[in-house]
Amino acid sequence: MARVGVFSERGGNDPGRIARSRVARSARILYFMPTPARVAVVPEEAGLIRIEDVILPDPAPDQVVVKLFSSGVCHSQLHEIHGPRASDIVLGHEATGEVVEIGSSVDHVAPGDRVLVTWIPRTVGPPPRVPKAAVLTLANGRVAASQGIFTWADHTIADELYVVKIPDGTRTDVTCIIGCAVMTGSGAVINTAGVRAGQSVAIFGAGGVGLCAIAAARVVGANPIIAVDLDEAKLETARRHGATDTVDATRVDPVERIRELTPVDGFDMMGQPVAGVDFAFDCIGAAETARQILPAARNKILGSDERSTAVLVGIPREALSVEALDLLAHEKHLTGSIGGSSKPERDVPLYLEWFARGDLDLDSMVTRRYALDEINGAVAALEKGEIEGRAILEF
Ligand SMILES: [Zn+2]
Repeated sequence: MARVGVFSERGGNDPGRIARSRVARSARILYFMPTPARVAVVPEEAGLIRIEDVILPDPAPDQVVVKLFSSGVCHSQLHEIHGPRASDIVLGHEATGEVVEIGSSVDHVAPGDRVLVTWIPRTVGPPPRVPKAAVLTLANGRVAASQGIFTWADHTIADELYVVKIPDGTRTDVTCIIGCAVMTGSGAVINTAGVRAGQSVAIFGAGGVGLCAIAAARVVGANPIIAVDLDEAKLETARRHGATDTVDATRVDPVERIRELTPVDGFDMMGQPVAGVDFAFDCIGAAETARQILPAARNKILGSDERSTAVLVGIPREALSVEALDLLAHEKHLTGSIGGSSKPERDVPLYLEWFARGDLDLDSMVTRRYALDEINGAVAALEKGEIEGRAILEF
């Protein structure tokens, strides 16, 4: 039975439904129907992820209900699966979908709109508003928490700040990885670092995020683009996406190799030859790669204006200790990049344009596709390092 307060119509791109919804909205008489959803739930106790049938709540004034098409399976979710938690949790933070229902104060999307659902919130204000994390009540009455959004589900409910409109007709499968992998990796290069043509970059980690960083470096004309990984197959993929040089860190010291590839005439104040990249990105977040990016960034001739930057992109799990003299004597920058300093409404159209003209080869970045019921297999493959690029779920 329809409950007054939300949209009643449901399903597809029926223009009549959308028109009726808009009329209803303009009158602020909203009729909602319960939205059944199949959701992957990570139990509070250790154990396999379960697929549960739930009824999504009616959207609050600032929430949107979205039917999802596909979602990425991001490496950072492994930390949540293995980390301590106080309740069941729901995961997934990048997806494509179609708006089904909107809350009364939502005006940037309407039912029937194609959207990305991404953990990187849109910017609104001033004053900026902090988005509210989705919380789901399960059939057994227990509550499952999210870190903002959940997209390992065939329908989701999200704060409107996590929902970005995309043009009708946009592909809805591989584009889901724009929501995290692309915005994080490409954004680190173009937004956080602001890499320009001719500047040198080293990218540690040729997984989903690293490949997106490599692709962005190629788009802006960086040279050389040095990819570092432990897996020869991933390095081969990195070359296809724009890496000009690759370093297999199981065979050589990556910092030494990067310095060999990037010599500069001159010596630093300690008498060492000057070499290294303008920008070194750690797209892994491991203790070792986080330490390596600073020495991989170029040292400098005393008095020169050149400065290099080490950028943390992958999520570090422990304290970072750096060679303080390296930082000081070479006036290096060490910075973080969270979500690629992205503004989704500005950046998503750009990445869709790159995708359309072949500069962002999402089709070859997405190497495996799973059904929602196969989520445990997807997570296991990710854990074993079997997934090149990114795996996605399709609903
Ligand atoms: Zn992610």
